[in-house]
Amino acid sequence: MIEATKHFVEWQKMVVIDNNITDWEIKNTGGGDGICLKNSHIIICTPNEYALFLHEVAHAITPKHGHDGYFADRFTGLCKRYLEPKN
Ligand SMILES: [Zn+2]
Repeated sequence: MIEATKHFVEWQKMVVIDNNITDWEIKNTGGGDGICLKNSHIIICTPNEYALFLHEVAHAITPKHGHDGYFADRFTGLCKRYLEPKN
C-alpha cells in the first residue's frame, strides 16, 4: 500500500484552492491503482501521481466535457502550470 507523501497532499491542497474547487473532497486511498470521480469527490487510488491528480482536477473544472478537446486543453494547461519540466 502506497501512502501519499506530505508534499503530494500539500500540493493537492494548493491546486484545489488555486482552481476554486474547494467544495470538492479529495481522498487518497492508497488501496489500488484505479481512480474515480463522482459527485464532487476525487479519489486517488495511486497517490503521488501528480499528472493523475491534475487529470481529475481537469474533469472537476470541465463538467460534462468527458475527454473532449476542451478538457484536453485545460488538462494540458494544468500540467504546464503545475508540473515541473523533467529535462
Ligand atoms: Zn478522465
